[in-house]
Amino acid sequence: MTVEMISVGTEILLGNIVNTNAAYLAEKCALLGLSCYYQSVVGDNEERLEDAIRLGLSRSDILILSGGLGPTKDDLTKEVTAKVFGRELYEDAHTKERIQQYFRQVHSSQVTPNNWKQALVPEGAKVVDNHNGTAPGLILEENGKIAILLPGPPNEIKPMFEQDIAPYLNKLQPEGIYSKMAKICSIGESKAETMISDLMDAQTNPTIAPYAKTGEVHLRVTAKADSEEKAQELMAPMMEELFQRFGDKIYTTEEDVTLEEAIVRMLEADGMTVTTAESCTGGLLAGRITNVPGASNVYKEGYITYSNDAKERLLHVKRETLMQHGAVSPQTAYEMAEGVAFAAGADASLSITGIAGPGGGTEEKPVGLVYIGCYVKGHVRVEEFYFTGNRDKNREYAVARALTLLREELLERR
Ligand code: ATP
Ligand code: MG
Repeated sequence: MTVEMISVGTEILLGNIVNTNAAYLAEKCALLGLSCYYQSVVGDNEERLEDAIRLGLSRSDILILSGGLGPTKDDLTKEVTAKVFGRELYEDAHTKERIQQYFRQVHSSQVTPNNWKQALVPEGAKVVDNHNGTAPGLILEENGKIAILLPGPPNEIKPMFEQDIAPYLNKLQPEGIYSKMAKICSIGESKAETMISDLMDAQTNPTIAPYAKTGEVHLRVTAKADSEEKAQELMAPMMEELFQRFGDKIYTTEEDVTLEEAIVRMLEADGMTVTTAESCTGGLLAGRITNVPGASNVYKEGYITYSNDAKERLLHVKRETLMQHGAVSPQTAYEMAEGVAFAAGADASLSITGIAGPGGGTEEKPVGLVYIGCYVKGHVRVEEFYFTGNRDKNREYAVARALTLLREELLERR
Protein backbone atom coordinates (compact mmCIF):
# COMPACT_ATOMS: atom_id res chain seq x y z
CA MET A 1 0.00 0.00 0.00
CA THR A 2 1.11 3.54 -0.65
CA VAL A 3 0.92 6.44 1.74
CA GLU A 4 1.33 10.16 1.12
CA MET A 5 1.82 12.96 3.61
CA ILE A 6 0.30 16.41 3.24
CA SER A 7 1.57 18.92 5.77
CA VAL A 8 -0.81 21.83 6.09
CA GLY A 9 0.26 25.28 7.23
CA THR A 10 1.46 28.52 5.70
CA GLU A 11 4.13 28.77 8.40
CA ILE A 12 5.77 25.62 7.00
CA LEU A 13 5.79 27.10 3.48
CA LEU A 14 7.40 30.27 4.80
CA GLY A 15 10.07 28.33 6.63
CA ASN A 16 8.93 29.62 10.01
CA ILE A 17 8.68 26.07 11.33
CA VAL A 18 10.52 22.98 10.27
CA ASN A 19 8.33 20.19 8.90
CA THR A 20 9.30 17.60 11.49
CA ASN A 21 5.87 15.94 11.28
CA ALA A 22 6.53 14.77 7.72
CA ALA A 23 9.88 13.27 8.73
CA TYR A 24 8.31 11.60 11.74
CA LEU A 25 5.37 10.18 9.77
CA ALA A 26 7.59 9.03 6.90
CA GLU A 27 9.88 7.13 9.23
CA LYS A 28 7.00 5.50 11.07
CA CYS A 29 5.18 4.54 7.88
CA ALA A 30 8.33 3.02 6.41
CA LEU A 31 8.61 0.89 9.53
CA LEU A 32 5.04 -0.24 8.97
CA GLY A 33 6.00 -1.40 5.48
CA LEU A 34 4.04 1.30 3.65
CA SER A 35 5.55 2.82 0.52
CA CYS A 36 5.71 6.60 0.38
CA TYR A 37 6.28 8.17 -3.04
CA TYR A 38 5.02 11.70 -2.44
CA GLN A 39 4.94 14.30 0.30
CA SER A 40 3.67 17.82 -0.02
CA VAL A 41 3.27 21.02 1.92
CA VAL A 42 0.32 23.29 1.33
CA GLY A 43 -0.63 26.60 2.95
CA ASP A 44 -3.84 27.42 4.79
CA ASN A 45 -5.71 28.00 1.54
CA GLU A 46 -8.96 26.24 0.72
CA GLU A 47 -8.53 25.87 -3.01
CA ARG A 48 -4.93 24.69 -2.99
CA LEU A 49 -5.60 22.32 -0.10
CA GLU A 50 -8.48 20.79 -2.02
CA ASP A 51 -6.24 20.35 -5.09
CA ALA A 52 -3.55 18.71 -2.97
CA ILE A 53 -6.04 16.28 -1.42
CA ARG A 54 -7.58 15.32 -4.76
CA LEU A 55 -4.16 14.81 -6.31
CA GLY A 56 -3.02 12.78 -3.31
CA LEU A 57 -6.09 10.54 -3.44
CA SER A 58 -5.59 9.99 -7.17
CA ARG A 59 -2.12 8.53 -6.71
CA SER A 60 -1.87 7.08 -3.18
CA ASP A 61 -3.96 4.66 -1.12
CA ILE A 62 -3.62 6.51 2.15
CA LEU A 63 -3.29 10.25 2.74
CA ILE A 64 -2.04 11.48 6.07
CA LEU A 65 -2.71 15.17 6.63
CA SER A 66 -1.17 16.98 9.55
CA GLY A 67 -2.12 20.40 10.91
CA GLY A 68 -5.04 22.70 10.42
CA LEU A 69 -7.40 20.89 12.79
CA GLY A 70 -7.45 23.65 15.38
CA PRO A 71 -10.16 26.11 16.36
CA THR A 72 -9.16 29.13 14.29
CA LYS A 73 -10.48 30.30 10.92
CA ASP A 74 -7.32 29.33 9.07
CA ASP A 75 -7.67 25.72 10.25
CA LEU A 76 -9.36 24.19 7.20
CA THR A 77 -8.13 20.61 6.87
CA LYS A 78 -11.25 18.92 8.19
CA GLU A 79 -13.69 21.11 6.27
CA VAL A 80 -11.89 20.69 2.96
CA THR A 81 -11.35 16.95 3.34
CA ALA A 82 -15.03 16.47 4.22
CA LYS A 83 -15.95 18.41 1.08
CA VAL A 84 -13.72 16.21 -1.10
CA PHE A 85 -15.27 13.08 0.42
CA GLY A 86 -18.77 14.57 0.08
CA ARG A 87 -19.51 14.38 3.79
CA GLU A 88 -21.40 16.83 6.00
CA LEU A 89 -20.04 17.85 9.40
CA TYR A 90 -22.00 17.14 12.55
CA GLU A 91 -21.32 17.81 16.23
CA ASP A 92 -19.88 14.72 17.93
CA ALA A 93 -21.17 14.56 21.50
CA HIS A 94 -18.25 12.47 22.76
CA THR A 95 -15.67 14.91 21.38
CA LYS A 96 -17.63 17.87 22.75
CA GLU A 97 -17.54 16.33 26.21
CA ARG A 98 -13.81 15.69 25.91
CA ILE A 99 -13.12 19.29 24.90
CA GLN A 100 -15.09 20.52 27.91
CA GLN A 101 -13.15 18.22 30.21
CA TYR A 102 -9.82 19.22 28.67
CA PHE A 103 -10.50 22.90 29.30
CA ARG A 104 -11.53 22.24 32.87
CA GLN A 105 -8.43 20.16 33.59
CA VAL A 106 -5.73 21.92 31.64
CA HIS A 107 -6.86 25.53 31.51
CA SER A 108 -9.19 25.56 34.52
CA SER A 109 -11.44 27.66 32.33
CA GLN A 110 -14.55 27.71 30.17
CA VAL A 111 -14.29 26.68 26.56
CA THR A 112 -14.06 29.66 24.23
CA PRO A 113 -16.79 29.50 21.55
CA ASN A 114 -14.43 28.90 18.61
CA ASN A 115 -13.23 25.68 20.26
CA TRP A 116 -16.58 24.00 19.65
CA LYS A 117 -15.57 23.94 15.99
CA GLN A 118 -13.29 21.08 16.97
CA ALA A 119 -16.27 18.96 18.02
CA LEU A 120 -17.53 18.95 14.43
CA VAL A 121 -16.63 15.77 12.59
CA PRO A 122 -17.39 14.50 9.08
CA GLU A 123 -20.21 11.94 8.79
CA GLY A 124 -18.96 8.39 8.88
CA ALA A 125 -15.49 9.36 10.09
CA LYS A 126 -13.68 7.39 12.76
CA VAL A 127 -12.87 9.74 15.61
CA VAL A 128 -9.52 9.28 17.35
CA ASP A 129 -9.30 10.81 20.82
CA ASN A 130 -6.57 13.37 21.40
CA HIS A 131 -5.09 12.84 24.87
CA ASN A 132 -2.83 15.88 24.62
CA GLY A 133 -5.03 18.51 23.07
CA THR A 134 -8.54 19.27 21.88
CA ALA A 135 -8.68 18.47 18.16
CA PRO A 136 -9.40 14.76 17.62
CA GLY A 137 -7.80 12.80 14.81
CA LEU A 138 -10.15 11.69 12.03
CA ILE A 139 -10.14 8.79 9.60
CA LEU A 140 -12.25 8.82 6.44
CA GLU A 141 -12.56 5.80 4.19
CA GLU A 142 -14.15 5.67 0.75
CA ASN A 143 -13.72 3.36 -2.26
CA GLY A 144 -10.49 1.89 -0.96
CA LYS A 145 -8.98 5.32 -0.32
CA ILE A 146 -8.24 6.60 3.15
CA ALA A 147 -7.60 10.07 4.57
CA ILE A 148 -6.16 10.35 8.06
CA LEU A 149 -6.31 13.80 9.63
CA LEU A 150 -3.98 14.51 12.51
CA PRO A 151 -3.30 17.60 14.64
CA GLY A 152 -0.21 19.69 13.87
CA PRO A 153 1.54 20.03 17.25
CA PRO A 154 4.22 17.32 17.51
CA ASN A 155 3.34 16.56 21.13
CA GLU A 156 -0.18 15.69 19.96
CA ILE A 157 0.48 13.91 16.68
CA LYS A 158 3.17 11.56 17.99
CA PRO A 159 1.29 9.91 20.86
CA MET A 160 -1.84 9.71 18.69
CA PHE A 161 0.09 8.01 15.92
CA GLU A 162 1.80 5.56 18.28
CA GLN A 163 -1.33 4.64 20.15
CA ASP A 164 -4.04 4.54 17.50
CA ILE A 165 -2.89 5.24 13.96
CA ALA A 166 0.00 2.76 13.75
CA PRO A 167 -2.17 -0.18 14.90
CA TYR A 168 -4.90 0.93 12.46
CA LEU A 169 -2.43 1.03 9.55
CA ASN A 170 -0.92 -2.29 10.54
CA LYS A 171 -4.34 -3.95 10.38
CA LEU A 172 -4.91 -2.75 6.82
CA GLN A 173 -2.20 -5.03 5.52
CA PRO A 174 -2.40 -8.83 5.32
CA GLU A 175 0.98 -9.07 6.99
CA GLY A 176 1.88 -6.56 9.62
CA ILE A 177 5.37 -5.26 10.18
CA TYR A 178 6.73 -5.49 13.70
CA SER A 179 10.11 -4.46 14.91
CA LYS A 180 12.39 -4.55 17.87
CA MET A 181 15.39 -2.49 18.69
CA ALA A 182 18.77 -3.19 20.20
CA LYS A 183 20.49 0.06 21.18
CA ILE A 184 24.23 -0.28 21.59
CA CYS A 185 26.92 1.93 23.08
CA SER A 186 30.67 1.47 23.65
CA ILE A 187 31.11 0.06 20.12
CA GLY A 188 31.62 2.13 16.95
CA GLU A 189 29.42 1.86 13.90
CA SER A 190 31.81 0.01 11.62
CA LYS A 191 32.78 -2.51 14.28
CA ALA A 192 29.12 -3.15 15.09
CA GLU A 193 28.34 -3.62 11.41
CA THR A 194 31.19 -6.07 11.01
CA MET A 195 29.93 -8.01 13.99
CA ILE A 196 26.56 -8.56 12.31
CA SER A 197 27.59 -8.74 8.64
CA ASP A 198 26.85 -12.48 8.46
CA LEU A 199 23.39 -11.88 9.92
CA MET A 200 22.79 -9.10 7.41
CA ASP A 201 23.90 -11.30 4.51
CA ALA A 202 21.61 -14.12 5.58
CA GLN A 203 18.60 -11.98 6.46
CA THR A 204 15.14 -12.77 5.15
CA ASN A 205 12.48 -12.58 7.84
CA PRO A 206 13.32 -10.97 10.20
CA THR A 207 15.65 -8.42 8.66
CA ILE A 208 18.25 -6.45 10.54
CA ALA A 209 19.41 -2.90 9.86
CA PRO A 210 21.95 -0.73 11.66
CA TYR A 211 21.50 3.02 12.24
CA ALA A 212 24.35 5.18 13.47
CA LYS A 213 23.51 7.77 16.11
CA THR A 214 25.96 10.11 17.83
CA GLY A 215 28.11 7.77 19.92
CA GLU A 216 25.64 4.90 19.58
CA VAL A 217 24.51 2.26 17.10
CA HIS A 218 20.89 1.16 16.88
CA LEU A 219 20.04 -2.19 15.34
CA ARG A 220 16.49 -2.63 14.18
CA VAL A 221 15.13 -6.13 13.77
CA THR A 222 11.98 -6.21 11.64
CA ALA A 223 9.64 -9.13 11.04
CA LYS A 224 6.66 -9.56 8.72
CA ALA A 225 3.91 -11.74 10.13
CA ASP A 226 0.13 -12.03 10.28
CA SER A 227 0.09 -11.57 14.05
CA GLU A 228 2.19 -9.87 16.66
CA GLU A 229 2.84 -13.16 18.47
CA LYS A 230 4.18 -14.73 15.26
CA ALA A 231 6.40 -11.73 14.72
CA GLN A 232 7.74 -11.95 18.26
CA GLU A 233 8.50 -15.62 17.69
CA LEU A 234 10.38 -14.82 14.51
CA MET A 235 12.38 -12.04 16.16
CA ALA A 236 13.27 -13.82 19.40
CA PRO A 237 16.19 -15.94 18.07
CA MET A 238 17.69 -12.90 16.32
CA MET A 239 17.46 -10.82 19.50
CA GLU A 240 19.07 -13.65 21.44
CA GLU A 241 21.88 -13.78 18.90
CA LEU A 242 22.45 -10.04 19.27
CA PHE A 243 22.68 -10.40 23.04
CA GLN A 244 25.21 -13.22 22.53
CA ARG A 245 27.35 -10.94 20.41
CA PHE A 246 26.97 -7.58 22.11
CA GLY A 247 26.22 -8.59 25.69
CA ASP A 248 25.78 -5.70 28.10
CA LYS A 249 26.74 -3.21 25.40
CA ILE A 250 23.07 -3.36 24.51
CA TYR A 251 21.70 -0.78 26.87
CA THR A 252 18.05 -1.20 25.94
CA THR A 253 15.65 -2.95 23.60
CA GLU A 254 12.98 -0.31 24.10
CA GLU A 255 12.26 2.04 21.24
CA ASP A 256 11.80 5.10 23.45
CA VAL A 257 14.52 4.57 26.02
CA THR A 258 17.55 6.83 25.60
CA LEU A 259 21.06 6.16 26.87
CA GLU A 260 20.63 8.76 29.61
CA GLU A 261 17.37 7.15 30.68
CA ALA A 262 18.98 3.70 30.83
CA ILE A 263 21.71 5.19 33.03
CA VAL A 264 19.28 6.98 35.33
CA ARG A 265 17.37 3.71 35.77
CA MET A 266 20.65 1.88 36.54
CA LEU A 267 21.61 4.46 39.16
CA GLU A 268 18.13 4.23 40.68
CA ALA A 269 18.36 0.46 40.85
CA ASP A 270 21.74 0.69 42.56
CA GLY A 271 20.62 3.49 44.90
CA MET A 272 23.35 5.80 43.61
CA THR A 273 23.59 9.50 42.83
CA VAL A 274 25.57 11.20 40.09
CA THR A 275 26.84 14.73 39.52
CA THR A 276 28.56 16.55 36.66
CA ALA A 277 31.32 19.11 36.19
CA GLU A 278 31.38 20.57 32.70
CA SER A 279 33.66 22.96 30.98
CA CYS A 280 33.41 22.95 27.17
CA THR A 281 29.94 21.35 27.10
CA GLY A 282 28.49 24.11 29.27
CA GLY A 283 25.67 22.10 30.81
CA LEU A 284 24.68 19.95 27.82
CA LEU A 285 25.46 16.81 29.79
CA ALA A 286 23.38 17.98 32.74
CA GLY A 287 20.66 18.84 30.23
CA ARG A 288 20.57 15.33 28.84
CA ILE A 289 20.48 13.72 32.26
CA THR A 290 17.75 16.03 33.53
CA ASN A 291 15.70 15.38 30.38
CA VAL A 292 14.88 12.01 31.89
CA PRO A 293 11.67 11.99 33.94
CA GLY A 294 12.58 11.10 37.51
CA ALA A 295 16.21 12.18 37.13
CA SER A 296 15.92 14.04 40.44
CA ASN A 297 16.14 10.69 42.23
CA VAL A 298 19.75 10.36 41.16
CA TYR A 299 20.88 13.84 40.10
CA LYS A 300 20.89 16.54 42.79
CA GLU A 301 23.30 19.15 41.46
CA GLY A 302 25.90 19.82 38.81
CA TYR A 303 28.48 22.48 37.96
CA ILE A 304 29.49 24.45 34.92
CA THR A 305 33.07 25.46 35.60
CA TYR A 306 34.13 27.31 32.50
CA SER A 307 36.99 29.29 34.00
CA ASN A 308 40.08 28.11 35.85
CA ASP A 309 38.95 30.11 38.84
CA ALA A 310 35.65 28.23 38.97
CA LYS A 311 37.44 24.89 38.67
CA GLU A 312 39.61 25.83 41.65
CA ARG A 313 36.94 27.44 43.79
CA LEU A 314 34.06 24.99 43.26
CA LEU A 315 35.80 21.72 42.48
CA HIS A 316 39.11 22.24 44.32
CA VAL A 317 41.18 21.52 41.25
CA LYS A 318 44.73 22.41 42.34
CA ARG A 319 46.23 25.63 40.97
CA GLU A 320 49.50 23.79 40.25
CA THR A 321 47.61 21.25 38.16
CA LEU A 322 46.04 24.00 36.07
CA MET A 323 49.34 25.88 35.75
CA GLN A 324 51.45 22.84 35.00
CA HIS A 325 49.13 20.80 32.75
CA GLY A 326 46.47 23.28 31.65
CA ALA A 327 42.68 23.23 31.97
CA VAL A 328 42.43 20.75 29.11
CA SER A 329 44.47 17.89 30.49
CA PRO A 330 43.91 14.43 31.92
CA GLN A 331 45.06 15.70 35.31
CA THR A 332 42.44 18.45 35.37
CA ALA A 333 39.70 16.07 34.21
CA TYR A 334 40.74 13.71 37.01
CA GLU A 335 40.62 16.38 39.69
CA MET A 336 37.34 17.77 38.36
CA ALA A 337 35.71 14.34 38.56
CA GLU A 338 36.99 13.68 42.05
CA GLY A 339 36.32 17.24 43.22
CA VAL A 340 32.76 17.43 41.96
CA ALA A 341 31.82 14.08 43.48
CA PHE A 342 33.11 15.41 46.79
CA ALA A 343 31.45 18.82 46.41
CA ALA A 344 28.07 17.27 45.62
CA GLY A 345 28.46 14.30 47.94
CA ALA A 346 27.61 12.00 45.01
CA ASP A 347 28.47 8.35 44.45
CA ALA A 348 29.46 8.95 40.86
CA SER A 349 30.47 11.86 38.67
CA LEU A 350 31.44 12.89 35.17
CA SER A 351 33.78 15.70 34.21
CA ILE A 352 34.35 17.15 30.75
CA THR A 353 37.13 19.54 29.74
CA GLY A 354 38.17 20.17 26.16
CA ILE A 355 38.55 22.48 23.21
CA ALA A 356 35.26 22.56 21.30
CA GLY A 357 36.52 25.08 18.71
CA PRO A 358 36.54 26.81 16.36
CA GLY A 359 39.30 28.81 18.13
CA GLY A 360 41.53 27.91 21.06
CA GLY A 361 43.41 25.01 19.51
CA THR A 362 47.20 24.71 19.43
CA GLU A 363 49.49 22.20 17.76
CA GLU A 364 49.86 20.35 21.01
CA LYS A 365 46.21 20.62 21.99
CA PRO A 366 44.10 20.78 18.82
CA VAL A 367 40.42 21.66 18.49
CA GLY A 368 38.42 18.56 19.33
CA LEU A 369 40.70 17.38 22.12
CA VAL A 370 38.50 16.46 25.06
CA TYR A 371 39.23 14.75 28.36
CA ILE A 372 36.42 13.04 30.18
CA GLY A 373 36.72 11.91 33.77
CA CYS A 374 34.44 9.48 35.51
CA TYR A 375 34.36 8.86 39.22
CA VAL A 376 32.54 5.83 40.61
CA LYS A 377 32.87 4.74 44.21
CA GLY A 378 36.32 6.19 44.85
CA HIS A 379 37.79 5.18 41.51
CA VAL A 380 38.54 7.68 38.72
CA ARG A 381 38.99 6.86 35.05
CA VAL A 382 40.01 9.48 32.51
CA GLU A 383 39.72 9.07 28.73
CA GLU A 384 41.19 11.18 25.95
CA PHE A 385 39.27 11.90 22.75
CA TYR A 386 40.09 13.66 19.51
CA PHE A 387 36.80 14.68 17.93
CA THR A 388 36.85 16.02 14.38
CA GLY A 389 33.56 17.88 14.07
CA ASN A 390 32.60 21.52 14.41
CA ARG A 391 31.88 23.13 17.78
CA ASP A 392 28.34 21.72 18.05
CA LYS A 393 29.32 18.22 16.99
CA ASN A 394 32.34 18.10 19.30
CA ARG A 395 30.18 19.09 22.24
CA GLU A 396 27.50 16.58 21.29
CA TYR A 397 30.07 13.80 20.93
CA ALA A 398 31.70 14.68 24.24
CA VAL A 399 28.37 14.33 26.03
CA ALA A 400 27.61 11.02 24.31
CA ARG A 401 31.00 9.60 25.20
CA ALA A 402 30.70 10.81 28.77
CA LEU A 403 27.42 8.97 29.21
CA THR A 404 28.93 5.82 27.70
CA LEU A 405 31.91 6.07 30.02
CA LEU A 406 29.68 6.41 33.06
CA ARG A 407 27.67 3.37 32.03
CA GLU A 408 30.83 1.29 31.54
CA GLU A 409 32.16 2.28 34.95
CA LEU A 410 28.84 1.63 36.67
CA LEU A 411 28.74 -1.86 35.15
CA GLU A 412 32.37 -2.48 36.02
CA ARG A 413 32.05 -1.43 39.66
CA ARG A 414 28.66 -2.93 40.46
P1 ATP B 1 -3.80 23.92 16.84
O1 ATP B 1 -4.97 23.35 17.54
O2 ATP B 1 -2.62 24.15 17.76
O3 ATP B 1 -4.11 25.09 15.95
P2 ATP B 1 -3.58 22.42 14.37
O4 ATP B 1 -3.89 20.97 14.20
O5 ATP B 1 -4.53 23.38 13.78
O6 ATP B 1 -3.30 22.70 15.90
P3 ATP B 1 -1.57 23.94 13.09
O7 ATP B 1 -2.36 25.13 13.48
O8 ATP B 1 -1.38 23.67 11.64
O9 ATP B 1 -2.17 22.63 13.74
O10 ATP B 1 -0.17 23.95 13.79
C1 ATP B 1 -0.06 24.18 15.17
C2 ATP B 1 1.38 24.10 15.56
O11 ATP B 1 1.85 22.76 15.41
C3 ATP B 1 2.33 24.90 14.71
O12 ATP B 1 2.46 26.22 15.14
C4 ATP B 1 3.61 24.16 14.86
O13 ATP B 1 4.24 24.51 16.06
C5 ATP B 1 3.16 22.73 14.95
N1 ATP B 1 3.17 22.10 13.62
C6 ATP B 1 2.22 22.12 12.69
N2 ATP B 1 2.55 21.44 11.59
C7 ATP B 1 3.79 20.98 11.83
C8 ATP B 1 4.71 20.20 11.06
N3 ATP B 1 4.39 19.76 9.84
N4 ATP B 1 5.91 19.89 11.61
C9 ATP B 1 6.19 20.33 12.85
N5 ATP B 1 5.39 21.06 13.62
C10 ATP B 1 4.19 21.40 13.11
MG1 MG C 1 -4.14 25.63 14.02
